[in-house]
Amino acid sequence: MRRLSVDLKPRLVFADQLGPEFIDDYEQPRVIIQSRANFFRPIHYAKAQLMLSAIRHAAAESVVPTRLIVADDFAKGVAEIKGEFEVINPTSYRARALISSNSNATVLPSRGFVTSEAEFNSWVSARKPKRLVMEDFYRHARISHGVLMRGSEPVGGKWNFDHENREPPPKGMATLGLSKPWQATPDLIDEEVDRDLGLWQKQHRFKYLGARSDRIFPVTPVEAGQAFENFLETRLVTFGPYEDAMMVSDWLMSHSALSMALNLGLISPTFCVERAEAQLSQGAPLASVEGFIRQIMGWRDFIWHVYWYFGPDYVRESNALGAKTPLPTWFQELTPEQLDARCLSQTLSDIHERAWVHHIPRLMILANWAMQRGYQPQEMVAWFRDMFVDGFEWVMAANVIGMGLYADGGKMSTKPYAAGGAYINRMSDYCSGCKFDPKVRVGEKACPFTAGYWSFLAKNEQSLRGNHRMSQPLAGLRRLKDLSEVIATSARFDQGEP
Ligand code: SF4
Repeated sequence: MRRLSVDLKPRLVFADQLGPEFIDDYEQPRVIIQSRANFFRPIHYAKAQLMLSAIRHAAAESVVPTRLIVADDFAKGVAEIKGEFEVINPTSYRARALISSNSNATVLPSRGFVTSEAEFNSWVSARKPKRLVMEDFYRHARISHGVLMRGSEPVGGKWNFDHENREPPPKGMATLGLSKPWQATPDLIDEEVDRDLGLWQKQHRFKYLGARSDRIFPVTPVEAGQAFENFLETRLVTFGPYEDAMMVSDWLMSHSALSMALNLGLISPTFCVERAEAQLSQGAPLASVEGFIRQIMGWRDFIWHVYWYFGPDYVRESNALGAKTPLPTWFQELTPEQLDARCLSQTLSDIHERAWVHHIPRLMILANWAMQRGYQPQEMVAWFRDMFVDGFEWVMAANVIGMGLYADGGKMSTKPYAAGGAYINRMSDYCSGCKFDPKVRVGEKACPFTAGYWSFLAKNEQSLRGNHRMSQPLAGLRRLKDLSEVIATSARFDQGEP
């Protein structure tokens, strides 16, 4: 017998559960809470704008009956729901604690990922790995979900195409020369969002960082679908080879920039994986298709599971290298105008502009710099969470603590992702216009990343000595005749602006 909507408990939907994957019955009433507490701390304007716009679009254009509760904080919003309600397990420790202590809440298993928490837990229990390695879980997931498989073998005979997917930017070109990406057309709801953010800033002294531009990223399932189709048409083919490359004049390169739509729950990652795999029959290169699928059901799922596996102290307390430096103002507040280091300056300017850069500037420029300079890990997690449109605690925990800063001492990566200017020079066009020289490690022309790399190794030699993957770099360190000068050069950049 058909259920009437009055028989259905309302479903509380978090701001990162806004798409159809989080709806089971189109007659079930939905409750969305718009909490002002999200904007109390300094946050990038584009992120505040995107979150608010997504919530308001979901309430205004919903295909299910939706009630929008506007509250000072989330707990007060939940208190306004009278009687029993359902909720899909949320994505942070704090939200789960709030929900699990509410006797009116029926909590359903989490969604929004290709693999479930139960699947990851049983994989870990069966293997009891010493260290969690993304590649191992990714292969398991490929097999169990039948993605890019031919029988029991990976399509193309290989699990990954990393060596084909590390092309530097093409020589003699300022951009990849791809067509204009999908971009949002702001509507009346966006105008209202901009007005309200301005008002809150005046009334409550909220601090927004970054540019106040029009919204460019998707906030509805329809927009997310359009952006994804545009990526498949215009960028998937070149995604593989250029996924690690960086160019001053091409902020998007071949990326999909779909992370915010995925993290707001607007589009299903399983759907994205299936659509990408289907592009093989349209002639898309396997290395590009596999590279894209690896980002979604490999890295994204893995980072999500690691967040829960390591527990709340992982993100709150990890600091294996004893990093204590507070984030400098120019970094914290995205004001790189005085910087001479072009790679840093460009990356921070790009974030200032749109609260997004792709994974390599995040890892090899921002986190690499922060690790070399000993920036405090928890401050870095909060900064990444608040300065990026796709930032949530679960995303930034393992990405920043584990991969970026090696603050977990190697629980999920085999060595620190530390690199000098040579890597940045190879993978970008930043160095050609820079005051410094990536090959130079001492003196006026010394690249702060190159001097910083050796200085980082010298500072952390004791902690890294037992790691066999660091034996070669540490042997190189011991051969340096000018180490004390290198360290002094690097220290010059600790003060002031590089
Ligand atoms: Fe960055 Fe060094 Fe290259 Fe300058 S020379 S852009 S500081 S890596």
